[in-house]
Amino acid sequence: MSRVWNFSAGPAALPESVLRRAAEEMLDWQGKGLSVMEMSHRSPEYTAIFEKTRNDFRQLLSVPDSHEVLFMQGGAVGMNAIVPLNLLKGYEQAAFINTGAWSKKTIKEFSKYGLPRVVLENSNALGDTAAASYVPDCSSLLNRVNGQQMAYLHYCDNETISGVEFTGQIEAIARQFDCPVVSDMSSNILSKPLDVSKYGVIYGGAQKNVGPAGVTIVVIDKSLLNCALPICPSAFTFGTVAENGSMYNTPPTYSIYIAGLVFEWLIELGGVNWASRQADQKAGLLYSTIEQSSFYNCPVRKQDRSRMNVPFTLADDSLNAKFLGQAAERGLVQLKGHKSVGGMRASIYNAMPLEGVQALVAFMREFEQKEA
Ligand SMILES: *Cc1c(COP(=O)(O)O)cnc(C)c1O
Repeated sequence: MSRVWNFSAGPAALPESVLRRAAEEMLDWQGKGLSVMEMSHRSPEYTAIFEKTRNDFRQLLSVPDSHEVLFMQGGAVGMNAIVPLNLLKGYEQAAFINTGAWSKKTIKEFSKYGLPRVVLENSNALGDTAAASYVPDCSSLLNRVNGQQMAYLHYCDNETISGVEFTGQIEAIARQFDCPVVSDMSSNILSKPLDVSKYGVIYGGAQKNVGPAGVTIVVIDKSLLNCALPICPSAFTFGTVAENGSMYNTPPTYSIYIAGLVFEWLIELGGVNWASRQADQKAGLLYSTIEQSSFYNCPVRKQDRSRMNVPFTLADDSLNAKFLGQAAERGLVQLKGHKSVGGMRASIYNAMPLEGVQALVAFMREFEQKEA
């Protein structure tokens, strides 16, 4: 059996050692004679798995006692409704930074529940695809948000589709807002250390950097557990989920178990500091290859380039199919860019080894030599 280098944006590659361990434990988990999939979520065996997973996540991100970690369902798209239903008590509006497709989707869904106020956006978000994608200048944000009766300020820390990533701009000023900051970190959570204490809510679907699809991780300031609208469904009410230890209803038990194996793997390698150094190395190699060539181009402004999702185009779009076909022959798969951006996108989350990026870069250089 030979495994491919999978550059999918999500569901994405998982560490091979995690998959091997899951395979070993599939039929008989630690001598108990059953699969984790078949366990009651209230059994002592599953409780042990669950608590270790939650503790390991807390350890990885140094989550302070002021914050609760919840395992929920519905994905990040579900959170676009769940967050307003949970935080809008006593408010009619929230503030949004629009940096691309995922921000836009969040803003659109919010308008079912309240009035979205877009306080900052980049030209990419405005639909001007010819302009470079970038993180907009955040210096005016405090003035635009404070004193405006906002329930919260929402932004997307890494725009998975266009490959635009914040590098701490919001975290640096988060405490100066008079409302909590909510961050969609679906595609870059666990790729860098965070000061969790500065955020009201951090959330992310698991299928990019954490584990399989089906579980959404929510990190929430405990002071926000009682701000839900009365119509918020109980299974999606942060306070109710927290009171019941994420077991108000049956959680996605197997996805959480796999996420737990990923956390163990990451802790063993050196945690988020290791992940961050590795991301620098992998993204650095890929972007410098693009920079050094006149055949490949990355549309994102240099300092705002995502370390997780690397979009790039070829000099001639008519070569796209050939590029993808030859890459696949080498076992380099899922490189096609999102339909809204075109070109290519290489997603290089924690589970993608440097070796995979080296293989991609070697192929890119060869392809350029032949076709340019
Ligand atoms: C993938 C992604 C989503 C959507 O996640 P679902 O699990 O499909 O709901 C939302 N936001 C970002 C930043 C993403 O990368």
